[in-house]
Amino acid sequence: MPAKPPAKKTAPKAKPAQAAASAAKPRAGKPAGKAPTKPTAGARAGTAKTGPAASPKDRARAQEVFAILAARYPAPAPALDYTDAWSLLVATVLAAQCTDARVNTVTPEFFRRWPSIDSLAKADVLEIEGVVRSTGFFHNKAKNLKAAATRIMEVYGGEVPRTMAELVTLGGVARKTANIVLGSAFGINEGIAVDTHVTRLSFRLGFTESRDAVIIERELMPLFERSQWADINHFLVYFGREVCDARKPKCDACPLAHLCPRKGLK
Ligand code: SF4
Repeated sequence: MPAKPPAKKTAPKAKPAQAAASAAKPRAGKPAGKAPTKPTAGARAGTAKTGPAASPKDRARAQEVFAILAARYPAPAPALDYTDAWSLLVATVLAAQCTDARVNTVTPEFFRRWPSIDSLAKADVLEIEGVVRSTGFFHNKAKNLKAAATRIMEVYGGEVPRTMAELVTLGGVARKTANIVLGSAFGINEGIAVDTHVTRLSFRLGFTESRDAVIIERELMPLFERSQWADINHFLVYFGREVCDARKPKCDACPLAHLCPRKGLK
């Protein structure tokens, strides 16, 4: 099915519903280290399974975190502009190691040149590289997107597949991208997308001891209802950008401070 060019603003951006405020004591933040962003073999293969049941105490704390963030961000959605599953998949692949804002400046021209999956499958990879160059890693991104389009045309009848097992066979698509496409484009909560923000916040909040995306996803899933899986990704991404920054987390003005062990921070 032809993909329409993304509209100027197709996905509602979440706006803070309330200012950061809490009775938390001021505490100096310290970088917790750079989180890994490259998908592991497990992430690529789509092997995450729900972990063991969470303790009632951990689950209650996670639910309290969710409720606070849900009140703060009433309209969770990807910050990437998209109109359908294909344009979201393309934007998410381009967003690897790149800002969403930058990707949103590139995708209008991308979909002007290649308005359908079929047209991208037939495109010159050098031309694709030229358009996506500013997002970084453009050789791989161009090659992967062309390969993904080709496979969708040849194997999936021109439609973006709707299962994790099929999505991770597409070029450049690992569990994170597949989870985003399934959750936000199809409304299917298959897992939790784990990116650099989710990795960092899950660790600081004490939801996991791991930095591995597949393990983190497996440990987060029992803490939240399946219906919450797409939203918790958005919430942690927004909150990571706004409050729990990688280098300077605003712990003294954090509404989660009473729930957070601040792991990795002093
Ligand atoms: S969630 Fe809040 S209290 Fe916890 S580390 Fe991040 S900013 Fe600090």
